[in-house]
Parts: sequence; C-alpha cells; structure tokens
Amino acid sequence: RGKRGYVVGGNWKCNGTAASAAALVETLNGAGPIPENVQVVVAVPSVHVPLVLGSLRSDIEVAAQDCGANAKCGAFTGEIFAGQLLDLGVTWVVLGHSERRAAGESSALVADKCAVAVKEGLRVMLCVGESLEEREAGLTAQVVASQLAPAAKKLSKADWGKVVIAYEPVWAIGTGKTATPDMAQETHKEIRTWMSKNVGADVAASIQIQYGGSMKGANAKGLLSKEDIDGGLIGGASLTADFFNVINGVP
Ligand code: PEP
Repeated sequence: RGKRGYVVGGNWKCNGTAASAAALVETLNGAGPIPENVQVVVAVPSVHVPLVLGSLRSDIEVAAQDCGANAKCGAFTGEIFAGQLLDLGVTWVVLGHSERRAAGESSALVADKCAVAVKEGLRVMLCVGESLEEREAGLTAQVVASQLAPAAKKLSKADWGKVVIAYEPVWAIGTGKTATPDMAQETHKEIRTWMSKNVGADVAASIQIQYGGSMKGANAKGLLSKEDIDGGLIGGASLTADFFNVINGVP
C-alpha cells in the first residue's frame, strides 16, 4: 500500500442539537489516542461548526457536509462558500454524498463544487457509489466511473492531491448491510485502476479511498485490512463512542 495512511471520517449528517453536539465532542475528546497512521475528520452540521471547532481536540479535523459551486461570496441565498468554511477553520468538505445526489445533485455539479473547494484550499471527501439495482445489473464499475469522470475533467493532478474518494455503495448506507471486505476491495481496486487510466498512475497510487456503508467497530478490521481500503466514512457509528473502535481498527 506504499506510503498511504488512513483517513477515517465521521458523517454526523443532519443530526443533533447544540447540546448533543457538545456531548459528542466530550465523548471524542475523552476517547484516547489516535494511531499515528490515521487522520480523523468529523463532518458536522454547518450550524454546529463553530461550537465543534471551539471545543474539539486538535487532532481531529472538522469538515462541512457540502459547499456551494459558486467561486465567491455573494447573492447566493442559503449557500455556503468554501472560502467561508476555511475562514472559520474548517479544513475539509464532504461532496457528492448519496443523500445529496438523491436530492438532485448531478456528478457535474459535484465536480464544480470539488474544483471550488480545492481551489479555496479545502480537502475533499468525494463520495461515489452505486444503487442496489445498479450492482445487481453488474454496473458498479461503470456507475462509479461516470461519477468520477466530471471531476477528472475539472481537477488537475495537483488538485487530486487534496481529494480522498469515499466509495459508498448506496444500498449499504444506513441499512446495516455492509459490503464484504472482498466486495469493497474489488471496487476500490477498480476505482484505482480507473484513476490510473484517466488521471495518472502517480495519483492512483497515492489517492486514499475510504469505504462507507454501515461500517462500525465490529466490521472495521476486516475492511481496513484490505490493500486498497484506506479508511472509512462512518455515518451512524460516528455518533457514538464506537467511532473510536473503527479508528483503532486500522492495521
Ligand atoms: C454515510 O453517511 O456516509 C454512511 C456511510 O452512513 P452509515 O455508516 O450510517 O451507513
């Protein structure tokens, strides 16, 4: 696996109150050391960003769960500009999560957002993944490639250095159904091969690919032991102390 370390992200989604976010920060702050080869990031609701940034341990970074595609501040009511996130101290953003794609985001829009985020200096967790129907039709590799292609058109090799790909089969998100380590590894390898052909062998070798979909302490070790799985993006289990069992599941 070369020099690739691990990235474990927690996706809090649109959950919680100020009080519950503060309690979760306390849980994470008291959860023990983070192994040296793991980078930990939590993607928190935008409204809780200042609270979390002001109280979370310094070895966990903070992500937003989306940002706008406009390359500046301005008359874009309801949007959040990547530069505004950075200004607050946010260093990452999750883009193209399946829950946003389901609400109508195209891969072209996600690619535009990636380009703005990277240009402003954010790191990106770029989510891709197939539905159950697509998997059953044997279309997984094709779907994932079609989700990555617009980003490959927009991003330079240097830009890709700021991007982590999160492979999240839609049928595994929030369902309790996890891809087996072998199934996940197969798709991660296909993604790396696609990146090699379409972006470059150097980027393909260095880019980190997270698995996401009902990952938790009990199944993390098996997934993280695979050659092309470089971390996880964790939804439900990131709202509890079990998040640290995932972090401690890295080889
Ligand atoms: C996610 O939201 O990215 C996710 C993987 O959720 P869960 O872990 O709950 O399946």
